[in-house]
Amino acid sequence: MKKSTSAHRDERRAVLKAGTGMAVGAALTGLGLDAAAAPAADAPAGAGAGGSASADRAITVAADARDAWSNWSGIQFCSPQVMATPGSETELADVLADAGGGIRCVGAGHSFTGLVPTDATLISLDRLSKLQSVSATAQTATIQAGIRLAALSRQLDIQGCALRNLPDIDTQSYAGAIATGTHGTGKALPALHADTVGLRIMTSTGQPIECSETDQPDLLAAARVSLGCLGVVTQATVRVVPAYNLHRRVYLLPVQDMLDQAPALADKHRNFEFYYLPHTGFAASIVHDVYEGDDVAQSPSAAEDVLTDLRRLRDWFSWFPSLRRMVAGWAIDADQTEEARNRSWKLLSTQRPTKFNESEFHVPQALGIACVREVIAALEQRADTYFPMELRFVKADDAWLSPFYQRDSCSIAVHAAQGEPYDYLVSQIGPIFRKHEGRPHWGKLHDLSASDLAGLYPRWKDFLSVREQLDPQGRMLNPYTRRLFGLAT
Ligand SMILES: Cc1cc2nc3c(=O)[nH]c(=O)nc-3n(C[C@H](O)[C@H](O)[C@H](O)COP(=O)(O)OP(=O)(O)OC[C@H]3O[C@@H](n4cnc5c(N)ncnc54)[C@H](O)[C@@H]3O)c2cc1C
Repeated sequence: MKKSTSAHRDERRAVLKAGTGMAVGAALTGLGLDAAAAPAADAPAGAGAGGSASADRAITVAADARDAWSNWSGIQFCSPQVMATPGSETELADVLADAGGGIRCVGAGHSFTGLVPTDATLISLDRLSKLQSVSATAQTATIQAGIRLAALSRQLDIQGCALRNLPDIDTQSYAGAIATGTHGTGKALPALHADTVGLRIMTSTGQPIECSETDQPDLLAAARVSLGCLGVVTQATVRVVPAYNLHRRVYLLPVQDMLDQAPALADKHRNFEFYYLPHTGFAASIVHDVYEGDDVAQSPSAAEDVLTDLRRLRDWFSWFPSLRRMVAGWAIDADQTEEARNRSWKLLSTQRPTKFNESEFHVPQALGIACVREVIAALEQRADTYFPMELRFVKADDAWLSPFYQRDSCSIAVHAAQGEPYDYLVSQIGPIFRKHEGRPHWGKLHDLSASDLAGLYPRWKDFLSVREQLDPQGRMLNPYTRRLFGLAT
C-alpha cells in the first residue's frame, strides 16, 4: 500500500540535486538501496591505464611500458615509441622532423573511437595551453590549442568573457574537442567549432599554416573538424561572449510527456536536454536560461546516487521487468525539482566520475523524437540497461566534417557502464540511428564505413583532397582514420 505523502517523503532519498554532477534528477526513495548489495560497476575494461603525456615531462619520452596510453574509458590504448609534449612551436617542429613513422595528437583522451592510438609518435599539447589574448572589441580570444575547456572558461571569466556553450564535461582540450565536433545543447546554439574563427596548424613537415573566416575560409571549413588528420593544431582564435549567469532547473516527467513536450521545451529554453531513465517510466529534463541576477545557489551533485540506484534496480529486478518499473515508479519522487544559479561554465559542464562507453548520433531535428522513441523501445527490451539516454538539440553549421553540417540536429547518446558489454550500442541501437539518417559523433562508437560516411557528408571528397594536399604521405593517419577515409592500411 502506498504510504502517506509525508511519510513517503521522509523516507525518500533526494536524488534531484542539480549540482556539479550529471544533473540527472530522479528521486529514488525509501528503498534502502545500500551499498552492500550492489556489485562493482567500475571494474576496469582491461586496458592500460597510462593516461596522456604529462605536462611537465621532457620534450620527448620513449615509452617503455606496455599500453603507455589509454583513453578515458580504457577501450583504446597504445604504446607509442615516442610521447612528445613540446613546449613551443620550435620544439614541435623538431618533434615532427624527428618522427620516424606515423604521428597522432592527443588531447584529454576522452574519445571512445580509435582516433588517437599510434605505435609511432603521439603528441600532446599540454604544454601549449595558454590563453594568449582577449579582444574585447572583436569579442574573440586567441588560445594555444592544448588548453582544456575548464581552464579556458575560468580564464575567460576573469576577463569578463565566456564560451557561448559547453559540452557535458569541460575536461577536453580545445583542439581535441573541435576535432570531433564536440557540442552542448541548445536549439539556437551550434557546436564549439562553429565559434572557431581562426586556426594555426603545423603540417607533418613542420610547415605552419593559418586560416580564418576571411583568409583561406575553405581551409578553415575543413580544419574546424579535422579528426586530427590535417596537421597539429597549435593555436585557435575563438568567438566569445560577455560572461553570463544561468538559472538551471531539473525536474522529472513521465517519459511519454517528455517526448511530447521536448520540441516545445527546446524552443522555450536556451539550453534544453533530457535524460531518459531506463525501466523507470521517467525522464529528467534539464533546462538553463540566462539569469540577470548575481546571487549564486548550487546544490551538491546527486548524479552518482542516481546511477547507483538505477544500477541496483537493474541488478535486483532485471529478471522481472514489470516489478522493476513498479519499484522505480514508487521510489521516484516526481514532484521534486532542483534549481541552481551560477556562472554559465559552472552549470553547463559537470563531472562524470562513473566511467562508461558511449555511442552518439546526430539525426535531423525533424526525425529526433521518432528516433528517440525507437531507441527507448530497444533499450526497454534489454534487461541490462540502466544508464540514462541523453537527447540534445544542436544548431547547424558549415564545417565540412561537422556532423551538424547544414542540418539542425537532435543528438542522441546511449551509454554502457565501463566493464559491461557495450557492443549492442553499435550493433542494436546503431541501425536505429542509421535508419533516421544519423551522422555519428566522431569521438563516439559507431561502425560506419567510408562509403557510408561519403553519403552523409556532402563535402567528404573536398575534405579528403585538402587532407591529401596537406599530408600527401599520410603521416598524420593511423589505421583507424585510414579505414574511416577508405584508404589502404
Ligand atoms: C565523460 C565524457 C563526456 C563527454 N561529453 C561530451 C559532450 O557533452 N558533447 C560532445 O560532443 N562530446 C562529448 N564527449 C566526447 C569528447 O568531447 C570528444 O571525444 C573530444 O574529442 C575529446 O576531446 P579530447 O581533448 O579528449 O581529445 P582526444 O580524444 O584526445 O582527441 C580527439 C581528436 O582530436 C585530435 N587532436 C587532439 N589534439 C590535437 C591537436 N593539437 N591538433 C590536431 N588534432 C588534435 C586527436 O588526434 C583526435 O583525433 C564526452 C566524452 C567523455 C569521455
